[in-house]
Amino acid sequence: MFDVFKKKEEKDPVCGMIASEKFISKYGEKFCSESCVKKYEVENHIANEKECGGSCARGCC
Ligand SMILES: [Zn+2]
Repeated sequence: MFDVFKKKEEKDPVCGMIASEKFISKYGEKFCSESCVKKYEVENHIANEKECGGSCARGCC
């Protein structure tokens, strides 16, 4: 959609940290830690119901 605004530099979509080589690549994004991966999964309804554990802010489970 907004490809014009896409930058080469990748950021953690959860906390906004600039990606480094230590970052975890998942879902086409880069994450600084497993906890950010988890948050991303919850926010995007990727986590399965058991892992979500009722903490989903959007009420998917
Ligand atoms: Zn992060």
